[in-house]
Amino acid sequence: MTRLFEILFPKYIWRIKTAEKKIYLTFDDGPIPEVTEWVLEQLKIFNAKATFFCVGENVLKHHEIYEKVVAAGHAVGNHTQNHLKGWKTENDAYLKNFTEFQNSIEIINKAQTQLFRPPYGQLKPTQAKEILKTHKILMWSVLTRDYDKSFNAEKCLENAIRKTKSGSIVLFHDSLKAQKNLYYVLPKYLVYFSKKGYAFCAIDL
Ligand SMILES: [Zn+2]
Repeated sequence: MTRLFEILFPKYIWRIKTAEKKIYLTFDDGPIPEVTEWVLEQLKIFNAKATFFCVGENVLKHHEIYEKVVAAGHAVGNHTQNHLKGWKTENDAYLKNFTEFQNSIEIINKAQTQLFRPPYGQLKPTQAKEILKTHKILMWSVLTRDYDKSFNAEKCLENAIRKTKSGSIVLFHDSLKAQKNLYYVLPKYLVYFSKKGYAFCAIDL
């Protein structure tokens, strides 16, 4: 399915072209206490860098955790202020929420990001057109379904491993909803690909 979307939406970034063994982990919907901090610890063990697509209201609520993410050398991206659904939101309201995220970052005096990921992968072409003027739109090539409670943890791991290749953009969530699968999958996933000689990199575009 992702392939079809890639053809339909060529202006979005679905994977990173690379000849090297590199994997681009992404974590959406944080930062929140406990889960985001746990993710940071796991990444540190493997000297892994990742990209966190943050929700602005969480950044404001948990700015000390956001600062930990940035200080650890990870990349961050805009995931709107309130996790809006693009298809269901009028353009003005959507773009305002997108900009509000930038204001949230400014409040805590952090450098702006040029990365954006639409919540639920939903974006109207007219919304995308505006956002593309200043940001790269990052999608994913591996959906772990860590948030899916009907998807058991072993299957989640097996699926993530099977679909990952060099240059993959892998979608995890540092959220309470994903916590159960994430805590099972992430350490094993990191071990598996580290042993195979892969590096985990932040998105740097
Ligand atoms: Zn999200």
